[in-house]
Amino acid sequence: MDVSLKKLFKENKPTAQVDKVIETLRNSPEKIGPTVAKLLEQSRILDVKSIENEEEDDDYLAQALELSLMIMCGTKDTEEFFKDLLAKGITKVNVCGTIWNDGDPAYKCSTCELDSSCAICVDCFSQGNHNGHLYKMIKVAGGVCDCGDFQAWKPSGFCAKHRGISEEETDPIKALPPYLLASSQQLLEEVLKYLNKILVSIKPEPEDAEEEPELDEREELEQDLNNRDSLILISWLQAFYERGDAFRRLLAETWTKTENDQSLLDVIMRVHPTLPSDIVEQLHALFFPLLFVSFFRKRFLKRHFIPYYRDHIEKHIESGANEKEMLSDFPVQLFTVANCTNILKEEKVVEILVDKLNAILAKAATIKDDQLKEPLMTVDPEEDLIFDRGYFRLTTDFSYILSHKDMANYFIYHNNGAVFYEWCKMLQLAQGMTNQLT
Ligand SMILES: [Zn+2]
Ligand SMILES: [Zn+2]
Ligand SMILES: [Zn+2]
Repeated sequence: MDVSLKKLFKENKPTAQVDKVIETLRNSPEKIGPTVAKLLEQSRILDVKSIENEEEDDDYLAQALELSLMIMCGTKDTEEFFKDLLAKGITKVNVCGTIWNDGDPAYKCSTCELDSSCAICVDCFSQGNHNGHLYKMIKVAGGVCDCGDFQAWKPSGFCAKHRGISEEETDPIKALPPYLLASSQQLLEEVLKYLNKILVSIKPEPEDAEEEPELDEREELEQDLNNRDSLILISWLQAFYERGDAFRRLLAETWTKTENDQSLLDVIMRVHPTLPSDIVEQLHALFFPLLFVSFFRKRFLKRHFIPYYRDHIEKHIESGANEKEMLSDFPVQLFTVANCTNILKEEKVVEILVDKLNAILAKAATIKDDQLKEPLMTVDPEEDLIFDRGYFRLTTDFSYILSHKDMANYFIYHNNGAVFYEWCKMLQLAQGMTNQLT
């Protein structure tokens, strides 16, 4: 179908012709995907032109996304459409997923939490019943509200709005009418593909600021648009799944669907370490509420997080933790969840931790007494890695993992106590040092 963004929007408002486009696609929904793809491609060409000609910034990407959402809903009045879905109970929002910034207030309730890392937002707390509970207000460093997550919070402590999604519960996608299901699947797939295309073409930030690559004017413009557009797409995706659990699940499914063992999410995770930090921060915020979807959480942990952890933890420790890095943001979201312990065992996470801790202590060990038959090695507390508490990430993650009873059993008994034996060797190295290692 021939669509022209320029004609369909006048002064940023959709024209009467938009109705015609919506109507045509309602009758041939198989064309939605290709049309959305065309709109997104077109928006980039128009955005480049309008910036080069110093026209008023029209932001064609935002228009393309707005129009795509109208096509998905089959109506121009998308807000009314989503309200109606909620009112009819076709979509539900059973988990909160509010994302916190550093310093935001939240509540902890030791009567309701399933582990000590959990918290809920102020709204959810005031709309729930915590009479007689042991609760306190805290300031958080980031993260996401746990209200509605059966893996984090007792259902009796959920608020009146969020009833939670259990694993046994019927798939919320099944409640979507056939046209909406088909249109939203196609739309999401195209938006995610387009996001990938942009993220892949973002030039990695040089480690040394003086090595900034020389870009010509056009390349610089494209680079600026890549940065801007990825943030626009990410916040669009966030707004998309906040409209209901069905849309959240649909995003999780579309992102992880594999073809030749590759998914759209795989592409993002591959380029993710070299993306600019503001994009990484927004991407992480986009992932957090998706972790409520059990299959997404398990897949993310196994396929993306643990391999990354294994490969990057040493660099992370040595270079000093970067606040917005994957290894700072995700351990508390992933290692504390009880239904993920099988993956922790399969992927030998305890072994990785003991191994890395051992390596740190060995690096910091010196000969304390060479008069003995075998010289006595002990950790030097003045060594940078020890003095700067470089081991802190590992010991924190260790305590998350050992908070699960079956993981504690695994740690002690697995393979006839081989892991535990390694741990004891480490304790041996720590003998004789000061009590700084906590
Ligand atoms: Zn909340
Ligand atoms: Zn809530
Ligand atoms: Zn409570």
